[in-house]
Amino acid sequence: MQTIDNYNFDGKRAIIRVDFNVPLNKQTFEVTDDTRIRGALPTINKILSDGGSVILMSHLGRPKGVEEKFSLKHIIGRLSELLGKEIKFADDCWGAVAAKMSSELKPGEVLLLENLRFYAEEEGKPRLPDTATEEEKKAAKVEVKAKQLEFAKQLASYADVYVNDAFGTAHRAHASTALIADSFSVENKMFGFLINSELKAMDKVLNSNEKPFTAIMGGAKVSDKILIIENLLNRAQNLIIGGGMTYTFIKAQGGKIGKSLCEEDKLDLALEILKKAKEKGVNVYLPVDAINADAFDANANSAVSKTNETPDGWMGLDIADESIKEFSEVIANSKTVLWNGPMGVFEFEKFSKGTSAIAQAVAKATENGAFSLIGGGDSVAAINKNKLADKVSYVSTGGGAMLEYMEGKQLPGIKAIRG
Ligand code: AMP
Repeated sequence: MQTIDNYNFDGKRAIIRVDFNVPLNKQTFEVTDDTRIRGALPTINKILSDGGSVILMSHLGRPKGVEEKFSLKHIIGRLSELLGKEIKFADDCWGAVAAKMSSELKPGEVLLLENLRFYAEEEGKPRLPDTATEEEKKAAKVEVKAKQLEFAKQLASYADVYVNDAFGTAHRAHASTALIADSFSVENKMFGFLINSELKAMDKVLNSNEKPFTAIMGGAKVSDKILIIENLLNRAQNLIIGGGMTYTFIKAQGGKIGKSLCEEDKLDLALEILKKAKEKGVNVYLPVDAINADAFDANANSAVSKTNETPDGWMGLDIADESIKEFSEVIANSKTVLWNGPMGVFEFEKFSKGTSAIAQAVAKATENGAFSLIGGGDSVAAINKNKLADKVSYVSTGGGAMLEYMEGKQLPGIKAIRG
């Protein structure tokens, strides 16, 4: 497999799939968080400093066709500032304009292509009205799939070398993330620095011999986390469960959960997970106490109870002191830590204490020498809110992509290059 460190881009045109799906101000369209743009800079700068030229392609939002508010032209200013150079812009990523502008690029120049998702062919999914018949849907699917290959080939034709650095979309088999790679020889396709770091961090956790390995799983639903939990039962020594999914486990064991979140159809699955964990010698920690609310509201009344004795009419929205203490101790004594999903409804200040305490505990473990990986939008937000991003080992940029990789799945964007 080719690597970006070893490749000399001198005189080459490189097309890079970046993740510039950044939040924009709804009125002025200014970039409100440029983390993702910054994430791509090392790769872009390496190519430019070698004497290559760069063609950048990305999606932005979920347009249904050409939609001004999703135009990548909105990010030109910020990108130009961060790179310290002028950015050329092709206002259509598929067609003669982009082809001509790419062919005219000189070493050191940067061309940004318009939003890939202005074309349904990027995702390979037809865009039809809800009123379309099954037959119409079927025909449209065949057509868009056929044209998707054409689209991927056109994008490939702009460059000599393909670099994928968009980890956030690596779990998608799209034209720019996977199909395009078929048009390049093994020597001329590679990951950028961002994807490399993501893979290194995830592989380090998955193959870790630094024990104990503690996996902290939170968030709303068991159903979203079941595959990752199953994979981690083969690797971790400790599994901490928090957040809304706690209550499916508590109810399955006969506890009283009041109005707390529960997936009734996953009760057997919860028992199955606990049984498997026992067989494999994995210690499972469920919260023993909780902060309950009398309504799902930021200003709801709150009271603490044992997690399995939630009063009728109340719902558990955060973990309470005893659980925080127990979880923090387990985390502090770990050598490898993976954290995905909040411990409670941390968006409500009143119910955010448990999640913040876990963020602190992960930082403390890291200070004690543990390797810690944080993934998933909400746990990353909690780490940032507590200003701990530089106190943990790695903060992943890809929510869904990280989950799927940690589940043990082959991601199309990774496979397209690794083979
Ligand atoms: P996920 O995307 O699965 O990681 O879930 C994140 C969401 O779970 C956040 O929006 C939290 O507010 C929510 N959540 C966490 N704990 C609870 C809880 N005890 N009850 C309801 N929702 C929760």
